[in-house]
Amino acid sequence: GRRPIVGGNWKCNPAEISKLDGLVANINACDTSGCDVYVCPSPLHVGLVYNKFTNGACVAPQNCNFKGCGAYTGEMAVDQMVDMGMKWCLIGHSERRGEFGLPTPVESSELLATKCKYILEKGMKCIYAIGEPLPIREKGIDAVLAYCVEQLTPFKDILDPETVVLAYEPVWSIGTGVTATPEQAQETHAAIRKWISENVSPACAEGIRIQYGGSANAKNAPELSACADVDGFLVGGASLKPEFAEIVAAIA
Ligand code: 13P
Repeated sequence: GRRPIVGGNWKCNPAEISKLDGLVANINACDTSGCDVYVCPSPLHVGLVYNKFTNGACVAPQNCNFKGCGAYTGEMAVDQMVDMGMKWCLIGHSERRGEFGLPTPVESSELLATKCKYILEKGMKCIYAIGEPLPIREKGIDAVLAYCVEQLTPFKDILDPETVVLAYEPVWSIGTGVTATPEQAQETHAAIRKWISENVSPACAEGIRIQYGGSANAKNAPELSACADVDGFLVGGASLKPEFAEIVAAIA
């Protein structure tokens, strides 16, 4: 079986560094014996918390560049993450892709594949977030799969269960309180896995972990965890609360 993996994406939180100790404590309260756990602190806070986890939880920055160190104002280099002992990096979050009303996408899937290749070349691992906006979901599962396949296609040659985790995060469920139903999550995860089986390899499809993200919390985690193709969660809002440990416990 696939080892579950749960991530806490703190996004651009907390506002005060005085709150960090409490958030770190929430993560350190997680039992990681049956589940990988990672945390995505805000860029300003990564350096303050990266060495504060005592239970094997890993820090995964929310973004990286694809060039390394140098004249790249405002960027975070994978090389710097390697130096700090980090093992994971999150890329492709819909809030980074720019799907919140910006005129053009900020980060394309092609750019994200370039970032992923750079991450893997440097010996780190990658969480790649994908997922459709509401108008696509309203068209049904075939449209949803087509949308996700477009996001996955540039990753065809680099999908590897050892180094890449997928996070399926439907945009309509992020921060809305509208969680995908277990049926929706399972159907979509299974469809993504089938596509990987047919277009990468059956072994890759069998081994690769697919997290669900979008209004996941301690209440809905048990039902979603029971889905055969849901291998964990990428948690936003609830990762800022003590209930995060319950979400980890639900899938472990
Ligand atoms: P919420 O759990 O707040 O909906 O956020 C999900 C998410 O975007 C995690 O990356």
